[in-house]
Amino acid sequence: MLDYHLHLWEHSQSDVGYALDQVAAYCEQAARRGVTEVALTEHAFRFRDVLSAVGDFWSRSGHEPSAAMAAYFDFHARNDLAQYVDFAERAREEGLPVRVGLEVDLYRDRMEPLAQLLEQFPFDVLIGSVHWLDEWLFDDLDDEYQMEQWRIRDVDEVWRDYGRALEELAESRVVDVLAHPDVIKVAGFRPDNPDSLWSVITEAALTADLSVEVSSAGWFKPANEPYPAPGLLDRLVARGVRFTTASDAHRLERVGARMDDLATLLESRGVHHLASYDQRRRLDVSLRGPEDSGVSAQ
Ligand SMILES: [Zn+2]
Ligand SMILES: [Zn+2]
Repeated sequence: MLDYHLHLWEHSQSDVGYALDQVAAYCEQAARRGVTEVALTEHAFRFRDVLSAVGDFWSRSGHEPSAAMAAYFDFHARNDLAQYVDFAERAREEGLPVRVGLEVDLYRDRMEPLAQLLEQFPFDVLIGSVHWLDEWLFDDLDDEYQMEQWRIRDVDEVWRDYGRALEELAESRVVDVLAHPDVIKVAGFRPDNPDSLWSVITEAALTADLSVEVSSAGWFKPANEPYPAPGLLDRLVARGVRFTTASDAHRLERVGARMDDLATLLESRGVHHLASYDQRRRLDVSLRGPEDSGVSAQ
C-alpha cells in the first residue's frame, strides 16, 4: 500500500520546523499498517513563495470574509518551499521510503504562475485539491462562519461550483493526482443526486490522465465515508482510472489509517495495482506487495 498524502504540521501550528525523527516515525507507523512507501505532501499554502506567486486571490472576489482569508493565509504561509523540499529529499537520502510531494490547491486563474514556481523543484508527485470556492473555506469544520455558509447557500449550486473548480484544477495540468476528489461532501451537505459531480470528476481525471486518490480521511469527518464515495469509485474503476491510497494524516496516529479498509474497497472491485510516482512519472506497483514498490526496488 501507499500513503501518498501526509502532512508534517497540524493546522493549529504556524511556525514549525523539520525533524527527521518525525518522518521516521511516520514511516514506521505506516509500515505497521501495510504501507511500503509514503509521500510527504504539505499544503502549498504553507509556503511564502506560493502566496507570492498567486497573490491575495481571495480579495478578488470582493466579498466580506476577505479579512478572514487574509488572516488564514498569513497564519499558514510562514515557510520556505526550498527548505521543505530539501528536507524531504534528505529524508529519502537517509533511506526512508519517502517521495517528495506537495498538496497543491486550486487558485482560480492563478495556476500558470504557480506552475512556473513548482517547476523549479524536483517533486516526485503533486496532488491537487480544492479546499475553497473563492473566499469560502468550505472544509474548515472548526470555523463557525465557514460552516454557517453551508446552511445559507444552495447545496446543488455549491456542488456545481466545486465541479467547475475541480475541472479547472485538472485542466491546469499542474498536478498528477486528484486528492480527496469529492471532498465537497466533507461537512455532510449533499444534493439529492451526486451523479453530475461524479461525471465531472471522472471525465476530468480521464481527460488530464490524472490518478485519483482513495482516502480514508472522509471516515473521520461528518461525511463518514471514504473519498471517493463507493459509487464514484465504481465509475472510476469501470473507466480504467488509476489510484493512489492515502490517509491525509496531519499527525502520527492517523498515518496509514484504515489502509486495510481501503485495500478491501479496491480489491473487491478488482483493482490490485496502484500508481506510485518518481519525479512526476507514474509507475505501476502492486497494491499489497512491497516487492514492486518504487523506492525499495531501486
Ligand atoms: Zn486536502
Ligand atoms: Zn491534505
